[in-house]
Amino acid sequence: MNMIEFKDVNKIYPNGTRALHDISFSVESGEFVFVIGESGAGKSTIVKLLTCEEQPSHGSVTVGGQEVSGLPDKYVPFLRRKIGMIFQDFRLIPSRTVAENVAYAMEVTGASAKEIMRRVPLVLSVVGLKNKADVYPAQLSGGEGQRVGIARALVNNPRLILADEPTGNLDPVNGEAIMALLERINRNGTTIIACTHDQNLVNKMQKRVLQLEKGTITRDEYCGNYYCVSTDRELNYIGDNSESVSDFPADEAEAFVEFSESTSQTTDRTNLLDSLLQDSESRRKRYSALNRTEEMKEILKKIDERVKQREAMRSQNEMLSSREAQDSSAGNKKDPGEFFE
Ligand code: ADP
Repeated sequence: MNMIEFKDVNKIYPNGTRALHDISFSVESGEFVFVIGESGAGKSTIVKLLTCEEQPSHGSVTVGGQEVSGLPDKYVPFLRRKIGMIFQDFRLIPSRTVAENVAYAMEVTGASAKEIMRRVPLVLSVVGLKNKADVYPAQLSGGEGQRVGIARALVNNPRLILADEPTGNLDPVNGEAIMALLERINRNGTTIIACTHDQNLVNKMQKRVLQLEKGTITRDEYCGNYYCVSTDRELNYIGDNSESVSDFPADEAEAFVEFSESTSQTTDRTNLLDSLLQDSESRRKRYSALNRTEEMKEILKKIDERVKQREAMRSQNEMLSSREAQDSSAGNKKDPGEFFE
């Protein structure tokens, strides 16, 4: 199913600036797409059309199969609740703690206090900030600030996340960790559109790339680079940032599984665990190439331990799934979210 569809969209601002010229593209549910282009190319205009902050001058924009161009104002807040927004400058409320910032995104939807108390710690675990719940934004590093931004975007379980320059204010190491987090969220089924200038990250991640130039789409490429230059990406990846091995601690992975269980969009928890395993495996292969130093051996050992842990989780999970199947065939169907509670 198409999560997003732009059909012959033009956007001319009231001062006569033509920001988008007849653009058409679609994004399927579950895709991860980078929208790239120079400043002024039209990236933010695409985001604003998706959130109904602006209306197209011509053409149609649909989100989740629903036409949003011309959506009556009273429906706009409902649309925005289905979309998680991540901003370059994080946009946290300085007078509220980390947990309160995330909770606020639920409060405005009218969620119950019980549900807020349940979900906020869960998403903070997913982004690796469970120990910072009571800290104020001024006490956070840039990377942590953006993790709060991601937790806030995630907390209402959106089908779509729009990230406008999410790594624009971060150093390369934190930028990479934030993208890795978004990639994990995407594996859980959430569609992600990330507008960015960050060519290193785009090249490393090899996702679909939509390139805009002066309001037109000049490239739509799967597994694309920022520029079409062939580089030894894998080698650069290892050399660039040996920290990436630690961007996925086991407790975050477990929190993620629990989070996925509590959302309705995970199709199958075994698939999710498989993808976590593959993540470790591919990282292990990359590091095997550098298996020379004691330090690397230590890292490999840790990865092996994590793979074993996840395998154990997987077999436990298969056991639970077969019990669930038995229960459901016996007419005793349970909410899958209850399994890990
Ligand atoms: P990007 O996000 O790629 O930097 P934008 O979508 O913000 O690009 O802008 C595309 C073009 O539209 C630019 O020429 C910009 O100056 C113009 N533009 C953006 N917003 C407005 C506005 N509210 N009024 C007039 N022109 C605008």
